[in-house]
Amino acid sequence: MDAKVVWSKIFGHTVESFTIRGKKYTVNMTDGGWECTCKDFEIRHGSYLITVYFPKGETNQLEGCKHIHKVLVDKKNEVNSPIIDVRMEKRDGS
Ligand SMILES: [Zn+2]
Repeated sequence: MDAKVVWSKIFGHTVESFTIRGKKYTVNMTDGGWECTCKDFEIRHGSYLITVYFPKGETNQLEGCKHIHKVLVDKKNEVNSPIIDVRMEKRDGS
């Protein structure tokens, strides 16, 4: 197993598929940003534009899939989370 796979197992977030029962994906924060093991991410880098809102009006935008969005929303809902809001919109097919 290469190191990346090991880190992924330790720190990755497991997210269940929204459409396929029993299917699970792993969402991970890497040097290159958020990554997911689902097809949508592998093929298109995710079909969604996700905007994360921090205090003092700071925002961070990233491309991703529904699973990355789910992990960020879960983080937002944690006590004392530094995230104020997370929004997701479908990207253009381009
Ligand atoms: Zn995904």
